[in-house]
Amino acid sequence: MSNQSTYRIVQQNVGKYILDAHVNLGYILVMDTPNTLQQAIVYFSDPDRAFEYAKRFRWPDGRVVCPRCGKAKHSFLKTRRLWFCYECKKQFSLKLGTVFEDSALGLDKWMTGFWMLVNCKNGVSSCELARTLGITQKAAWFMLQRLRLALQDDFFGKRLGSGPNSEVEVDETFIGGKARNMHKHRRDAMTGSVDKDKAVVVGFMERGGKVRTHIVTERRKRNMQPLIRANVEAGTALYTDSLKSYIGLDENYKHEVIDHAVEYVRGRVHTNTLENFWSLVKRALHGTYVSVEPYHLYRYLDEQMFRFNNRKDMNDSQRFKLGMSQIGGKRLTYAELTGKNESPRHDPAGTWEAMPKMWDEFTF
Ligand SMILES: [Zn+2]
Repeated sequence: MSNQSTYRIVQQNVGKYILDAHVNLGYILVMDTPNTLQQAIVYFSDPDRAFEYAKRFRWPDGRVVCPRCGKAKHSFLKTRRLWFCYECKKQFSLKLGTVFEDSALGLDKWMTGFWMLVNCKNGVSSCELARTLGITQKAAWFMLQRLRLALQDDFFGKRLGSGPNSEVEVDETFIGGKARNMHKHRRDAMTGSVDKDKAVVVGFMERGGKVRTHIVTERRKRNMQPLIRANVEAGTALYTDSLKSYIGLDENYKHEVIDHAVEYVRGRVHTNTLENFWSLVKRALHGTYVSVEPYHLYRYLDEQMFRFNNRKDMNDSQRFKLGMSQIGGKRLTYAELTGKNESPRHDPAGTWEAMPKMWDEFTF
């Protein structure tokens, strides 16, 4: 079976696993597990224990099914930790159909890397992870990108602003701007946006709820307003700055504007929660990751959103388990990662699509 057709079958079965994982999260969250990075390293260093642990997240209801056909008719090859599916007449591993797929790295390294990524407030660079795990920087970079995929939230197609008193902050920011340090051919590849070397990120923050972000090519009304309508329920209180692109939203929303030339807070009208999020994003991007290509930017945003949205009422262990519950039904090959972009949240009219294969972080 080709990789492509395996992928399609995996995709068909995925939704189910993801939903299962969320339904069973209550049970998983009370599961006995390590509480600190040091305990995690010790705990997962035993291959059998790491395997049994990951298995519970892969198949939360305890029923192991073949990722290719979805059937549960198989035998288990204990010595190799592989199942043999009687339907497909093929073996499958715990990693098949997850972000760990086709990786030669052990679960001990995957899980330690994941623990660090979900719990380090400013993120973890591939250099740092490579040193910690004793793997190459390239392997660490690939691992981190796959783990970021596991952290991606699809928001289940729901809009923000569910209740009658809900308030949503909307704000945009520029990220990037290191074109001066780039080679000319790379600089030339970035064309079409207002500010050639910067990406525009639009953020939506529900007070007391979650943040979500989208990358757009321009912060024009025609880019911004359809996005706002797709992400925020009509009738919600909406707080923005005085950018002209937001004019006209009061037809559908209780739109209040805060003019930053005059003031930053007027009662409940401000975008400070989102400003806090932007500062975390920028600290990670400029401090930890040094420089990220716009092409990969949304993955770093996924990572930051996961940590931000799960920062309260959750300890390191619970945050790790939540991440682990999202490993299934997702895979990312090196070709996909370094070639074309298939993110549903990527601006389809964007210029980043046309960008050539590039590096992501500076090495130092
Ligand atoms: Zn099968």
